[in-house]
Amino acid sequence: MSLNFVFDSDLDDMAKRLCYEYWSYLSPDDYIAHIKTLCQNYNINYYLLFKVINKFQAYLDDVHCEYCGLPYQLDVPADIPYARQRNSWFCDGCISFSGGQLNTSR
Ligand SMILES: [Zn+2]
Repeated sequence: MSLNFVFDSDLDDMAKRLCYEYWSYLSPDDYIAHIKTLCQNYNINYYLLFKVINKFQAYLDDVHCEYCGLPYQLDVPADIPYARQRNSWFCDGCISFSGGQLNTSR
């Protein structure tokens, strides 16, 4: 599995570790349990957890927009297998720029 991460420079080491752990979980079934465990381990609440995670963007480095080459941006770890199943993908920017001529479900 290969992911690229881009994060805010104000994240401290603990926050980064939390994010890496968040993204290291790949089973879509137990996502809620995974979140609970992370909150317990780091002694934080859900609100804080997602606040940190939102500053930390994950990209797949083997799925790119066919048009502009932008890497696929993930929202949740469970998106990874879904993204890889696609034959082609276009980023939101290219879809809106094309006025709907590009289609993600091709
Ligand atoms: Zn694009």
